[in-house]
Amino acid sequence: MPHMKVKIFLIVSLFLSCGIYSCKVSENKVTSPVVEEISPIQVDSTNFPEKEELVEIKVYRGERTRHFKLIHTKLEVSFDWENQFLFGKAMLILEPYFYSQSDLILDAKGFEIQEISLIEGDHSKNLAYTYDREKLNIELGKVYEKGQKINIKIQYIAKPNEIDREDDLANTRKGLYFINPLGDQKGKPQQVWTHGETESNSRWFPTIDAPNQKSTQEIFITVQDQFKTLSNGALIFSKSNPDGTRTDYWKMDQPHAPYLFMMAVGDFAVVEENWDGKMIDYYVEPEFAEYADDIFGHTPEMVSYFSRILNYPYPWEKYSQVVVRDFVSGAMENTTAAVFMEDLNVDNRELIDYNWDDIIAHELFHQWFGDLVTCESWANLPLNESFATYGEYLWKNYKYGEDEGDYYLYEELDTYLNEAEIKKEDLIRFYYNDDEELFDSHSYAKGGLILHLLRNYVGDEAFFKSLEYYLKKHAFGKAEVHELRLAFEYITGEDLNWFFDQWFLASGHPELRIEETQEDGKFIVKVWQDQDLDSYPVYKLPLTLDLWENGIKSQYVIEVDRPYQEFEFEGTDRPDLVLVDSEFLLIGEIEHDKTPKQYHFQFTRYAENVRARIDALDYFLNDPNDSLSQIILKKALNDPFWVIRDEALQVFEKDSTDLFIKNEEWIKELAMHDPSSLVKAEAIAVLASKERSKYIDIFQSNLYDSSYSVAGQALYAYLQSGIEDVDGVIEYFKDETNFNITSSLADYYIKNQVHDHFDWFSDKLNTYASSDLWYFIKLFGMYLLTAPEDQIKEGLKELEYIAVNHSQFYNRLSAYQSLELFSDYEGVPEMLRQIKDKETDSRLRGYYED
Ligand SMILES: [Zn+2]
Repeated sequence: MPHMKVKIFLIVSLFLSCGIYSCKVSENKVTSPVVEEISPIQVDSTNFPEKEELVEIKVYRGERTRHFKLIHTKLEVSFDWENQFLFGKAMLILEPYFYSQSDLILDAKGFEIQEISLIEGDHSKNLAYTYDREKLNIELGKVYEKGQKINIKIQYIAKPNEIDREDDLANTRKGLYFINPLGDQKGKPQQVWTHGETESNSRWFPTIDAPNQKSTQEIFITVQDQFKTLSNGALIFSKSNPDGTRTDYWKMDQPHAPYLFMMAVGDFAVVEENWDGKMIDYYVEPEFAEYADDIFGHTPEMVSYFSRILNYPYPWEKYSQVVVRDFVSGAMENTTAAVFMEDLNVDNRELIDYNWDDIIAHELFHQWFGDLVTCESWANLPLNESFATYGEYLWKNYKYGEDEGDYYLYEELDTYLNEAEIKKEDLIRFYYNDDEELFDSHSYAKGGLILHLLRNYVGDEAFFKSLEYYLKKHAFGKAEVHELRLAFEYITGEDLNWFFDQWFLASGHPELRIEETQEDGKFIVKVWQDQDLDSYPVYKLPLTLDLWENGIKSQYVIEVDRPYQEFEFEGTDRPDLVLVDSEFLLIGEIEHDKTPKQYHFQFTRYAENVRARIDALDYFLNDPNDSLSQIILKKALNDPFWVIRDEALQVFEKDSTDLFIKNEEWIKELAMHDPSSLVKAEAIAVLASKERSKYIDIFQSNLYDSSYSVAGQALYAYLQSGIEDVDGVIEYFKDETNFNITSSLADYYIKNQVHDHFDWFSDKLNTYASSDLWYFIKLFGMYLLTAPEDQIKEGLKELEYIAVNHSQFYNRLSAYQSLELFSDYEGVPEMLRQIKDKETDSRLRGYYED
């Protein structure tokens, strides 16, 4: 995944930073030339009020007590699209877990219960129950002992929209979602899909909604014949019904946790592949069928790769991936059937600039870590998410090489350290207010880095053998973190409590301070652990230390395990460079002052190590006009790794004409021929930030590049270059739908007050989502500012509709802010007030009140 460089995602991720993403949204790369000029809102998180309604006293949240074992779940469902109801019949088989039981308590949220009966052979009898819209308490009529099976039938109507909460989590906890249910939303297909994590599947079927339960599953889904359906396991049959509907029967013989049950209904094209005789298929909107293989096509190779390194073949009978609209998360790893957000609806040109392998690998790795072996409680969520995140790294490193792998780890560390400035949490967290908090960069980024550290400590062979042992021991079951530790101890023969205690069961990270001195003819490296030792552990850290002297590198392993230590190196005078943690494994910070000469040495002598180069380059970018910086910058522009070229280029956008002139010829070369489309686009952006008219030929020749980033950037630069006759170029691009292109056109229409594009803008508001829409709402507001009266009137209505109704809160905010541009306009203040009143999301309410 290309690195994140556009502000929109910083803004959005700021909102989402403690969001409810069960799976991380990979950063979408948008190269928008107009970004700088819109001056996006700077949302300071301190503006947001405490979520008072969520704040309870932090209580211990352990594993759910198992009074019953849920053995089997059979569902028959059909839909009332108009009312957004599900008509359901659930047949559950359970037995007491250990103690005898006379009452059964099920999770069943927001249902209308019609009948509950006990099935015994051919007979059934109604059971008494009480129901408080969350828990269904059923009187079984007698005492059941362990080993005695109970068959319960429940007829119900699920009403997902009648959720008993009105906060920002309400929309993510419905469990069942109807998209464009009445078919009246332009450009949006009709779909039904579900999202269970953490405990929302009990909003569409009654169950014991806890991750320590595992059930086999059958689902009969009845839909209008034009829709496809998808669920876990295999499609056994489809039958047509006399009323013109069709019933699909899906069956899953291997047990899995209730939160991993899923359904998706819609007009999907299905592209089929195969792995070792198992079906691998991709469900996409028909328009994207021809690109499905470009988007998801690495899946079979990923399945092979993960099966091989884990020595555990893909455990399930099939693997489906479906892209749906308005998904409430980035993606979700439902067993055998992962769901993805619509950002994966891309064509093969968009895939030149970025691909979605990260998120695809993440969901796939969950099929082992999460689905096959499930965290027994949400407190143990890292047993799911840290592994899935590490799966992204494993694939990246394997498929795209070590530079990409190392860079991925570098970004993960950055992500964690940024979050650690706001909060530091135990990785395994038993005390929390809402399980939403657990889906953060601790569980994902830090956890993935900890696994990488553990792998380096025990060695590759022991690491993967331990994982194999863990998976085989707990397959189709659940685990807590100690079971992971025991697996590693069993394989390696070594006590690992110290490792798990400091990394999984404590918060914070080491903050090392390094000083070098020369005393009595000895060279000494002093190491302090500067983290607050009242709150955080003194870490035990085996670290590599590279010492360069007279052009020769010696590597040492030092063990840092006290608040202060000295390491002596005899026979060493004044080394050229000392690099502590030279393998870049530390999950923490190192403060180590080095001279420019030493950084220069680091950049050049560690040429094979991307992270050493990035660290050194970052140092020089602080003062790009320094003479040594200029040398490094020149080298960086020629670096074999695209990220380094890209970072170096960004300096030239900011300032320094002299510096630019010295490198102008090479930057022109990068703009024409760099093999990375993102670097090429950045080089064009640099030229566009200078005297544009000088580079018209370069802009022109990149207009038709196969990369949208390149073409979009070139189009922006070309249209802004002062060239007079642009009609032909505009005519050529006017029907393009890619955001890189349309945002450049929009910018031109706005600046030149071209006022006959209302429908064109309006169309984008109806088709874009996520960050693209966020920008387009802003652009639309600016377009309206100088538009004729009738367009303003119509446009304000469109903005109001989005500000009230859009499912993504940051897009509601974007529309609200565009409306604020018109606060002098008649009726708009009242409109804004009404939007505020209707808003239920506490993040936005807080923002509006400011
Ligand atoms: Zn995940």
